[in-house]
Amino acid sequence: MMKFYILTLFPEIFDYMTKQSIIGRAQTGGYISVEALNIRDYTKDKHRHVDDYPYGGGAGMVMQAEPICEAYDALCERVGKRLRLIYMSPQGKVFNQKTAKELALSEEIVLLCGHYEGIDERAIEITQAESISVGDYVLTGGELPALTVIDCVSRMVPGVLSSSSTDFETFEKDLLEYPQYTRPEVYRGLHVPEVLLSGHHKNISEWRTRESIKRTLKYRPDLLK
Ligand code: SAM
Repeated sequence: MMKFYILTLFPEIFDYMTKQSIIGRAQTGGYISVEALNIRDYTKDKHRHVDDYPYGGGAGMVMQAEPICEAYDALCERVGKRLRLIYMSPQGKVFNQKTAKELALSEEIVLLCGHYEGIDERAIEITQAESISVGDYVLTGGELPALTVIDCVSRMVPGVLSSSSTDFETFEKDLLEYPQYTRPEVYRGLHVPEVLLSGHHKNISEWRTRESIKRTLKYRPDLLK
């Protein structure tokens, strides 16, 4: 079982999203677990502040280091070891299928979600967090990026999908997947390619390889070395 812990100011976001569909079944089946901890529960002042103005001036608020470090320490103490911590950040290493496979080898990971203008740099230094970005754009918070990582990594955990589902899909072998079709055979005058109805496995496999290459050349030539 792979365990995902999330440090966030909005744990409710994870309650709904991780209970649906394949990820929901992966949890009930005991292949993964997802636990979101509210950083605000680890504040020490009576107003439960989690953010403050940036030193040096500038727009917005910055999440304070203390509640983040306290939340992480409390979790590590409960689990009984220093856990791998990943800060979701637009400044991090860009997440891809290879990173997901590597993360899926872990027994557990902690995902830290920033908000507002981000988090006090000392929280990253003290916890020695790695940083992962979901792409070169800026979101309002790390919750969607964390859900992206949970979803993608969970698919790689043995037992969550049938192994053949991931064998030929997009990004495996640096190719985009071939086009897929299902019933009916004709829809609004468009026919399913004849070869897919032929039952001829070798021809189907060759057609799929050809279509994969064509598609990759058209949409993602950068993937082809
Ligand atoms: N001021 C920060 C900067 O310029 O680097 C951006 C802060 S962003 C508005 C707030 C939070 O959203 C970040 O702390 C991070 O957790 C999350 N976030 C935003 N974009 C992200 C991305 N592309 N990948 C991962 N996390 C992201």
